[in-house]
Amino acid sequence: MRFLRPLVLLLGLACAQAHAWGNHSLAAYRAFERMPEVVNASTVTVEPLETFLRAEEGTLEALLASQEAWALAHLEKYPPRPAELAFTADPARSDEVRRLAFLMALRVAPNSKFALYFQVDPWNPLSGAALPHAAVSNLPELPGSSDKYLALKAGDQIPPLSVLASATEEPDNGLDYKLWEDNLSDWGGIYGFGTQPFGNPALAYSSQAPFHMAFLHESRMLYLAAPFIQRSFLLLRSHQFSTLASLAFRTGHAYWGWRFAGLSLHYLQDLTQPYNASLAPGQSSTKLLSAQALSLVGMPGMKSDLRLLIAKSHRMLDRYQTELMLRAAARQQETGLEKALHNLDRDRSYPDWSDHYLRDVVSTQAVRAAAPLAQALMSAMPPAYLLDPDLDFGAWEADLRLLDELSKREGSERARLDTLLAELMGNFGAHSRNGLRGILRDSSPL
Ligand SMILES: [Zn+2]
Repeated sequence: MRFLRPLVLLLGLACAQAHAWGNHSLAAYRAFERMPEVVNASTVTVEPLETFLRAEEGTLEALLASQEAWALAHLEKYPPRPAELAFTADPARSDEVRRLAFLMALRVAPNSKFALYFQVDPWNPLSGAALPHAAVSNLPELPGSSDKYLALKAGDQIPPLSVLASATEEPDNGLDYKLWEDNLSDWGGIYGFGTQPFGNPALAYSSQAPFHMAFLHESRMLYLAAPFIQRSFLLLRSHQFSTLASLAFRTGHAYWGWRFAGLSLHYLQDLTQPYNASLAPGQSSTKLLSAQALSLVGMPGMKSDLRLLIAKSHRMLDRYQTELMLRAAARQQETGLEKALHNLDRDRSYPDWSDHYLRDVVSTQAVRAAAPLAQALMSAMPPAYLLDPDLDFGAWEADLRLLDELSKREGSERARLDTLLAELMGNFGAHSRNGLRGILRDSSPL
């Protein structure tokens, strides 16, 4: 155990970056904009969460009990939900008390907003009553954010594409914030998830990491040395929200059907990011463990270099993808990324949606892409961006214009990165649609 605790720190700092793919809505609008099941679906009526919960309290009690049984049967290292958190129907209680009981039964942050809003698609700028970040998120706004939220109210009509794409970003707005017992929150101590397995418990954003990353294909050696890396609950969240979506569709609450579907697909989309699916892209388990061993005998250089490289590569990839997509929208000119995202051709080349899809298809593919991607980033980026410990993620990054900087460099290296990124966006699109097809398949009336 004495070996393991420092290894937690190695892995923890490698995983401080919980986000993937910048703003998911930006890519999700493109992924679904040509999918007939979405664009041909009727507009839906906006409904507050409290109204949905009041109407479906009995069916939700049964569903949440079945989710717990599923998790116990299917997830490794799953900590059972404490019995007192089970959702039990009680028509006499207030909307506020019922809402809290629902969020705590899911074991998500009880101060999650679930506001009525949608994110504006930058390809179709709309104006309206803008909501501040604090109205939709319980986390501080990230510097340089371009997210734009417009308010909705009960009874409004809205296209499913807007609900679905907007909801794919929602879990990064604090749903999985401080759920661990060492996170010093009012709820972490009662949720029963235990201590934070990786990521830095002292960093607010980092507390979400074990719900948004999953290391499902690491080496046996690494699992033996660091078994806690298997304690991630991305698969739990995906299942919880996909089954909630199907229940909402089945019971006539289409707004919540599309919204829960988006919430579920966020976790799938995170897993298409190789830096969320692989502990150390491009690095062998032997190297990771050697770095740790050297650090323990007073030579921390290799470990801190690795940690920096992984965190910065992850961040720069997300940054590059976001800048490319925002520029394409501003110019109204598609790049290879947009084309890959809405291309439906490869959807049928994957197996039908099942409980195994995330592990066997999405994670396998992302892990395979990890090493070539790490190499392409290293070739395309100015070396200091990935290796210089004095360039931090704060002030320096807020002013960074990555596209401008990369345009000064060798074009062929960047073309290689663009090709890999377009392929990853193709995966994001195809898997998001296949996940949605699975949800819709399970949404038919029984
Ligand atoms: Zn995420």
